[in-house]
Amino acid sequence: MSTGFEIAVPDLSAERLGNTDTPGVWAFDSGTAGPTLLITALIHGNEICGAWALKELLAAGLRPKKGQLVLAFCNLAAFDTLDVAAHDAARFVDEDMNRVWSSAKLDQPVTQERRRALELRKWVAAADWLLDIHSMHEPSPPLMMTGLLKRNVELAKRLGVPQHVIMDAGHKDGTRMRDFAQFGDPQSQALALLIECGYHGDPSSVDTARNVVAHFLLESGIVDADDLPGHWMLAQKGPQTVLQVTAPVVAMSESLTFSEPYQGMECIAHAGTQIGQDNDKPIVTPYDNCVLVMPSLRQLKVGVTVMRFAHELPADPERQ
Ligand SMILES: [Zn+2]
Repeated sequence: MSTGFEIAVPDLSAERLGNTDTPGVWAFDSGTAGPTLLITALIHGNEICGAWALKELLAAGLRPKKGQLVLAFCNLAAFDTLDVAAHDAARFVDEDMNRVWSSAKLDQPVTQERRRALELRKWVAAADWLLDIHSMHEPSPPLMMTGLLKRNVELAKRLGVPQHVIMDAGHKDGTRMRDFAQFGDPQSQALALLIECGYHGDPSSVDTARNVVAHFLLESGIVDADDLPGHWMLAQKGPQTVLQVTAPVVAMSESLTFSEPYQGMECIAHAGTQIGQDNDKPIVTPYDNCVLVMPSLRQLKVGVTVMRFAHELPADPERQ
């Protein structure tokens, strides 16, 4: 297992200016009717694969043929503190920027992240399609996090990448951008996906970010395949599996430990298998064939999600 940080930190001195009245936000309007796409990177300051993808899209001069394309470098203040030797510390400045997306929190802009989220809010509110690009604390296959709404699961299946699609309800400690306002509204048509591209420092996370961005842009219809950098689209590796998260494992104490050095996507055959302990109480799998999603103790604090339990859904849940 490599925990080395093998990606160069991108120079964002030009990109951070943006071409709008919001620093770090670039908007390109085709002038023709069509959806508004928002692609976001750096919601967490140490997750730089998305920043590389957006930087390269800007360098390639990609413009939409219809609708509007908006690219946003989100938590630049946290990114500015990034030291790859201690990259976890650059996740945020004051609080996790992917837990602040509710009116209750945004109405109290008491942290750097809430103030930045308020600047970004109008772009989020105006988007019809959102792709939010993240990476992970530990080495893991890429995961597409769809939330629970069927329309987003369907979009993930149309993209066809990555292999693992995860339906999850988000976090107890606050709302993610991808669940904010129209994106969490069952009556809306707005589409939102969050891609976890693999380990923060793994060069393959940049390949995954480019590949998913390319599929997302193409599926929206605002660009043609010829418009995309040729090497961005990767061959699909095998069929997709859709996993539904049934419960998060939320830390009750800072003494929580796992029984094994889990990396994620392990399938535990038997219900009741102990996979860790917290406050001297065993943590056990709730059902047979339970899949462990994104186990990590790197941000361990009381109330933080350290793992999710999931089970595989049939290939076409519509028919069930
Ligand atoms: Zn993240």
